[in-house]
Amino acid sequence: MSIEEPSIFSKIIAREIPADIVSETDDLIAFRDIAPQAPLHLLVVPKTQQYRNVVELAASDPGLMARMVAMAESLAAEHSSGDFRLVFNTGEEAGQTVFHVHAHVLAGGVDEGTLAKPR
Ligand code: 5GP
Repeated sequence: MSIEEPSIFSKIIAREIPADIVSETDDLIAFRDIAPQAPLHLLVVPKTQQYRNVVELAASDPGLMARMVAMAESLAAEHSSGDFRLVFNTGEEAGQTVFHVHAHVLAGGVDEGTLAKPR
């Protein structure tokens, strides 16, 4: 059992705080970002918070990472044209604020600079 405090995303998964959830499987959830930076801005999040970033996830569970990418693809097709950007901010200086690995799915007219700069 983790001794860490539940992340903000774990609280969404547990329905302790509300979110606009668009997809859920046994090990993943996807919901709309509260501060969208593109016409479509979703977060795809593993239900486990044991991986702080994509590097840890890829090293330990590449299958779970592949399922994140597949969910991103199907959501971009369902909610936009099918083309999308997949962004994993990794580290504070890169703009990561939630240390529970998550993919930003951005689609529908994404600015060149979106999420490319630390905020
Ligand atoms: P990061 O900055 O770690 O790459 O991404 C965290 C993202 O989570 C940000 O884009 C932020 O807007 C989003 N976020 C933070 N808190 C909440 C929340 O309570 N609900 C939702 N839906 N998104 C959140």
